[in-house]
Amino acid sequence: MSLVQRGIKTWLLTELLRGLMLTGKYMFKKKITVEYPEERTPLSPRFRGLHALRRYDDGEERCIACKLCEVVCPALAILIESEERDDGSRRTTRYDIDLTKCIFCGFCQEACPVDAIVETQEFEYATENRANLYYTKEMLLEVGERYKSQISANIAADAKYR
Ligand code: SF4
Ligand code: SF4
Repeated sequence: MSLVQRGIKTWLLTELLRGLMLTGKYMFKKKITVEYPEERTPLSPRFRGLHALRRYDDGEERCIACKLCEVVCPALAILIESEERDDGSRRTTRYDIDLTKCIFCGFCQEACPVDAIVETQEFEYATENRANLYYTKEMLLEVGERYKSQISANIAADAKYR
């Protein structure tokens, strides 16, 4: 842009007027500001929030301790220990997720062959203590029970895309 053109633009305040026109254009449009937490936007069934471990309807843990989630986790946030039960099945004795390491990539959920580890739509778990972000197996199973119907509905809603 030449010096003359820049001078004319400055003198006629064209950029200021363009800015005011943009402001005027949106002034009378429907406002999109959401007054959280009283108002909330819808969440995708694929939303990746707090993790949960799921049980079958008969109460049995879904997790078979294959450790695929632990292996695939890029943040090394999952720690699993397992043992063989008397009936020959393998189950975890320890399943921890360190949420201070987790990057919420969803790989653990994708890798799981039995839909045991999932990420819920819960995102309100802020805390002042880092230790509270270390989720043990019991805590993860409790989250799974708390959001059982929501998790099932989200998996069903997303099933046709998988
Ligand atoms: S969401 Fe990603 S980073 Fe977090 S535990 Fe699962 S695999 Fe690891
Ligand atoms: S949560 Fe799934 S992927 Fe991870 S150990 Fe259990 S069965 Fe395997």
